Amino acid sequence: MSLRDLPSVDRLLQAATTVGLEGRFGRPLTLQALHETLDEARALIRGGGQPPDETTLIAEASRRLEAWLAPTLRPVINATGVILHTNLGRAPLSRSATQAMLDVADGYSTLEYDLGAGKRGSRETHAEALLRRLLDAEAALVVNNNAAAVLLALTALARRREVVIARSQLVEIGGGFRIPDVMKESGARLVEVGTTNRTHLRDFEAALTERTALLLRAHHSNFRIVGFTTEPDLSELVALARRRALPVVDDLGSGALLDTAAFGLAHEPTVQESLRCGAALVAFSGDKLLGGPQAGILVGAKALIDCLRRHPLARAIRPDKLCLAALAATLTHYLRDEATREIPVWRMIATPPEDLRARAAAWAATLQSGEVIHGQSTVGGGSLPEETLPTWLLALNTRQPNLISERHRPPDAGGRAGRAAGHRPAGPQPFPGVLHRPGTPHGG
Ligand SMILES: *Cc1c(COP(=O)(O)O)cnc(C)c1O
Repeated sequence: MSLRDLPSVDRLLQAATTVGLEGRFGRPLTLQALHETLDEARALIRGGGQPPDETTLIAEASRRLEAWLAPTLRPVINATGVILHTNLGRAPLSRSATQAMLDVADGYSTLEYDLGAGKRGSRETHAEALLRRLLDAEAALVVNNNAAAVLLALTALARRREVVIARSQLVEIGGGFRIPDVMKESGARLVEVGTTNRTHLRDFEAALTERTALLLRAHHSNFRIVGFTTEPDLSELVALARRRALPVVDDLGSGALLDTAAFGLAHEPTVQESLRCGAALVAFSGDKLLGGPQAGILVGAKALIDCLRRHPLARAIRPDKLCLAALAATLTHYLRDEATREIPVWRMIATPPEDLRARAAAWAATLQSGEVIHGQSTVGGGSLPEETLPTWLLALNTRQPNLISERHRPPDAGGRAGRAAGHRPAGPQPFPGVLHRPGTPHGG
């Protein structure tokens, strides 16, 4: 057998066009696939193999084309039991947040235009007035994510100066976010005080110098220190900082606006509490417990927010129109006092276990398979480590992988998302938890 037995590229292209490949994938990409397929066939023949026939070559080129263009970012069913799963895209958006994104996505918008005044406006108006009203904050600023928010705050307020933080809070959140590294990148000098398990107010007091720019408090996020531990309260830190006319910046991480204790969980510190305690700036994520799009939100003292706003870094990490549209819609749910009904993350947290049990049973009936068993979910997203919510699972034999498919819809499809399951805005009823791996929530 010789290489000359292989069809030419031209001939293969003709065949590919006949079966519709060129129409679906375009000529340049189809040609690329044919060239690669032929190269592989030549290598095969040189190695003593049988030359593939034309049909096989076309099938192979088609397989390549499909693989190249298959979307890698696509919807999945979250059956991990972790509501805010960083690997699975964190918070699912509400219907109106999704709609708000669509409304500005395929046309022009007032992103930086003030219709009332008939002149140029600012993208900062869209979410910030809502945040101020909702949180009773003096000022607010939205950036691309919370890591960027913290970096901006440190860069703008503490570059070449000192930031004092408790040793127990030098955390790594995941995804490469480490407080000491962010500090280094900002140009601020890290002054760590206290010990791994215990830090006292006097440790902070002793570390304050004329080079101190601010005191930083970082939420422990995805771990807990238990036993012989102590850290000063935020209000104590604020009292100390105020005596020296210094700000306290609170990296709250998950940024709960509602009290998780109302849903049988431990209390997760809220943004409102941090502001009431007197934190000069509070930073939190948009896509953790807030239940909105990826964003970093800073609220607090106007003088400081204005300083961040003017920093050149702010321009590099600004949010886009889709983010702002979804964020504004999400914040509106809180203002309308409908968050637990409309925001999927909170709806999942608030779903009574009986409902989850009924849903699991409905799935079992639909699939004619599986066993409804008791289980535990966690919130995830760098909040409430070790805390669990009781739930009901459908235990399935995973050797039947096709059992779960989007074609299945349980009889009681009612639009409420499962605590252990993901929420898909327009798809079938979410599937209840299939497996539970304790300790898998990811903070970052
Ligand atoms: C999650 C988290 C961050 C990072 O927020 P992103 O929005 O993921 O950038 C920073 N700090 C804390 C305490 C966090 O929990």
